[in-house]
Amino acid sequence: GCGICIKKCPAKAIMIIGLPDKLEGQLTHRYGDNGFALYGLPIPSTGRVSGILGPNGVGKSTAVKILSGQMMPNLGSKTTTWDDVYKFFSGSELQDYLKRVSGKSIKTSQKPQYVDLIPKAFKGKVSQLLKRADERGMLDSMAADLDLTNILDREISDLSGGELQRVAIAACIMRDAGFYFFDEVTPYLDIFQRIKVAKIIKKMGEEKNVMVVEHDLAILDLLADMVHVAYGEPGGYGVITHPKGVRVGINEYLKGYLPEENIRIRPQPIEFDVKAPKEQKDVEKLIDFGSFSKTFEKFRLDVKGGQLRKREVVGIVGPNGIGKSTFAKLLAGVMDPDAGKLDFKVKISYKPQYIKTDIDMSVRMFLRSISPKFDTSYVRTEILLPLQIERLMDCNVNDLSGGELQRVAIAACIGREADIYILDEPSAHLDVEQRTLATKVIKRFAENNDVTVMVIDHDIYMIDLLADRLLVFDGEPGVSGEVHGPFEMREGMNRFLSSLDITFRRDEETRRPRVNKPESNLDREQKKIGEYYYLP
Ligand code: ADP
Ligand code: ADP
Ligand code: MG
Repeated sequence: GCGICIKKCPAKAIMIIGLPDKLEGQLTHRYGDNGFALYGLPIPSTGRVSGILGPNGVGKSTAVKILSGQMMPNLGSKTTTWDDVYKFFSGSELQDYLKRVSGKSIKTSQKPQYVDLIPKAFKGKVSQLLKRADERGMLDSMAADLDLTNILDREISDLSGGELQRVAIAACIMRDAGFYFFDEVTPYLDIFQRIKVAKIIKKMGEEKNVMVVEHDLAILDLLADMVHVAYGEPGGYGVITHPKGVRVGINEYLKGYLPEENIRIRPQPIEFDVKAPKEQKDVEKLIDFGSFSKTFEKFRLDVKGGQLRKREVVGIVGPNGIGKSTFAKLLAGVMDPDAGKLDFKVKISYKPQYIKTDIDMSVRMFLRSISPKFDTSYVRTEILLPLQIERLMDCNVNDLSGGELQRVAIAACIGREADIYILDEPSAHLDVEQRTLATKVIKRFAENNDVTVMVIDHDIYMIDLLADRLLVFDGEPGVSGEVHGPFEMREGMNRFLSSLDITFRRDEETRRPRVNKPESNLDREQKKIGEYYYLP
């Protein structure tokens, strides 16, 4: 049982005790006699973008196979026929839809979840890949919209994760299909690119049939018109609810309770600070870093100097290509600055953005080789259980999926002995529940140890929940970058969001942040008083 297995995980993200009674008679599909069972089905609809909100392993891909006509939903029985299926869905929009689809699969265009795998499947230049996908004659406009014009001549194998993600999104949009499915659009994109992609897909949804899975909730909020909440037991069974308005769906998800379904999907709600946290007194300093710089052939990073404190999480924000990873590598001593010195004696544990592995051993052996601490019950309850690593212990590291590898890499990073921990994009490939759990683990780890944790991430909800202070990068991506801070949250958010020219309002019910429409009253008002994120 490697990967998503049917073993019951003691730390499962979503706690449902037994199968809710109400699901009897709603079984859409079951693999084999005792395999994974899917209840419900998302409803595709032209003229709106439907989102699916929930953890991995509860049946998204299974649902997409059904909706694209590749698979008949078997309703849990070997003898089911299409007529049974029509009867089962009578009175639902799905009946009409499945009648159209049945037998002949409708052409489906899919953006795969793991873009890192594209270079293995396609050898050649960006332009070759995009020309092949361009069935709607829109390559020029798509390349301009997604900033791909300058990389058309590059080899696919040389692209960064963010570039690969945008190429994959462009390719998916340019195909001429009856059903479009995007399995996550945000990994490796900065917040500016995330918003841009959200707008493009939302626009496309006005005339096409579009379905999206997305774990960055601020972006899902912008992108989708309706969401289906998905819950269950990853690998065991999954339930896909009826569609809810995007605002309501996200709120119910955050509160951890679905009133219509009368189901609690999480013991505690996820809550945000409306007011900026107060400046902390009696803070203990870890280090002061002075000014230093690093120059590459085409890029220069300047750091002015700042202070890091013990027991704090410093969020690191800024666009892609601005020098965040370079800064991390300089602090980590992986690389030396060419002006200035890093003359403090601290040990740094660093989780890179792109996790390369050629580790041919079990997760258990790998973690033991990092620290004997991994055998203690403290690490087990504080790190391994909440990160859902226990069930992966006997898997080979080389066989892990992107999300599994990410969790093991986070555990490995915070399991080392160090003074400063730097996590570069820990949210990548984690589903929305795993992000919440990882946030808790990282926050508690910082609070309980005399260390500083620095987290580079573009998911604004995750930064909000994690960070005590912010380090803000600005400049010109690919050319020059400057580092400012760390700032208290209000000042840091204002500085970062004003450079992006976006403001957030608060949801009336859950107080979660939502991106304001540009030029709306709130947007203009908040910009005028300089409050981009927190309520005054
Ligand atoms: P998601 O896309 O939400 O991650 P999937 O629909 O891919 O979930 O898979 C849900 C579960 O169904 C997994 O536990 C997977 O192992 C199982 N599953 C997927 N395809 C098959 C198949 N062809 N036969 C048996 N089990 C399968
Ligand atoms: P971020 O993490 O903010 O996305 P990076 O620190 O990875 O940014 O990169 C900043 C810039 O420096 C990019 O333009 C990148 O191409 C360039 N760069 C990074 N590492 C090197 C290197 N070893 N040699 C030359 N250029 C580099
Ligand atoms: Mg980076």
